Amino acid sequence: MSLVEDRALLTAMRGGRFVVLAAAVVFAALAIGGALPLAYAFGGFAIVAAAAVLAVIAVRAAKEEDRLAQPVAISERGDGFLRAVVAGLPDPVVALDRDGRVLALNERARALAPALRQGEPLAFALRMPELIEAISRAANQGEEQRVVYSERVPLDRWFETIVMPVKREPTAAKPDFVLMTFHDLTPLRRVEEMRADFVANASHELRTPLAALLGFIETLQGSARDDAKARQRFLAIMQEQGRRMARLIDDLLSLSRIELNAHRRPDTPVDLVPIIRQVVDGLETLARDRGVTVNIDGANALSVLGDHDELVRIFENLIENALKYGAAGRRVDIKIGSGASADGVPEAQVSVRDYGPGIAPEHLPRLTERFYRVDVTESRTQGGTGLGLALVKHILNRHRGRLTIDSAPGAGATFTVHLPTVATAQLR
Ligand code: ADP
Repeated sequence: MSLVEDRALLTAMRGGRFVVLAAAVVFAALAIGGALPLAYAFGGFAIVAAAAVLAVIAVRAAKEEDRLAQPVAISERGDGFLRAVVAGLPDPVVALDRDGRVLALNERARALAPALRQGEPLAFALRMPELIEAISRAANQGEEQRVVYSERVPLDRWFETIVMPVKREPTAAKPDFVLMTFHDLTPLRRVEEMRADFVANASHELRTPLAALLGFIETLQGSARDDAKARQRFLAIMQEQGRRMARLIDDLLSLSRIELNAHRRPDTPVDLVPIIRQVVDGLETLARDRGVTVNIDGANALSVLGDHDELVRIFENLIENALKYGAAGRRVDIKIGSGASADGVPEAQVSVRDYGPGIAPEHLPRLTERFYRVDVTESRTQGGTGLGLALVKHILNRHRGRLTIDSAPGAGATFTVHLPTVATAQLR
């Protein structure tokens, strides 16, 4: 309660006392003078005194009510402007008075902390001691405060809260209110975690062949030094491990190069048909080794806007996977054609179908993640890096295309590349 309001109550009380005193004197004089019988004088005095006491009680009650309603009164009276500004800010924002009571909050803040209510202390809704302390420090010391906190339920989320003291008069000793903004750090943290995971995975993938190489070198220097047969065998394994490391580094570099260029869309018209034929020719030896026949069917020419080498990379990965993982089916069918996307936009569609063991549905959504394999040992024995389909996905993203995968255990797998055709690409 302010001093001014205190004084009003004091005046009321003093006035009340004066009225009671004056009534006592007047009624006593009337009774003594004989103008009023004693009983009437008493009665009259009692009525006036009671009225005065009631008046004082009423003033006190009114003041108390005023005091209770004060936080709402502040925001309703003076701070329609403050509320309008807070409502118009793009981040979750809460304005608080110096005692930590909510003066205004916007929809985004309400979505973040639904228990927040205008007029109520923030501590009712957000039980975070470090935040409450930061608000009190900002309000008392007038200095900006930052608090990073995390929520575990219902999901892991991280926030940074900035508490800014605001003064209406720059020379004022204390701020009039504080503004609290929330920044969602969750996406940043996730990217950081992914990067850390990626480095850990890449190092692990490189360390395995490296450990094999070092082991064989040691054996060749020691026990197998004079064993010509063992040397031949070990050198062949070492060569394969060395190649695996080279492939891995090559794939990692390609991925980062494609990511760097992700925003630049290729703009050269390229015919897909010769690319696919070239890739199939290049994989002829592998196909023969695995006893697989490759059939190409469909259009004689199909142009897209693309990067020639990246498109080669896509089909190399898909056809090689079909030959490696689907060899049991002895046949791979490649279909080149045009079709339309789900929203009716014309596109080039190339599908690579094998008749191998297929892929269980739970793996399908994760196949294009870096280093994800259905069977790690099989991938390694096939010389896989676990990056092939991740590369395909990134290249297609850059080309504004997409990859769809259809498969069921025992029924083979179909990987379909969708790319905007030249006319469509130029329109967009
Ligand atoms: P990798 O280098 O291991 O081949 P990819 O990213 O190319 O990596 O493929 C990821 C995984 O997807 C493979 O390890 C394999 O388990 C599965 N896979 C890919 N193509 C096929 C296919 N045609 N049939 C069955 N499984 C496949």
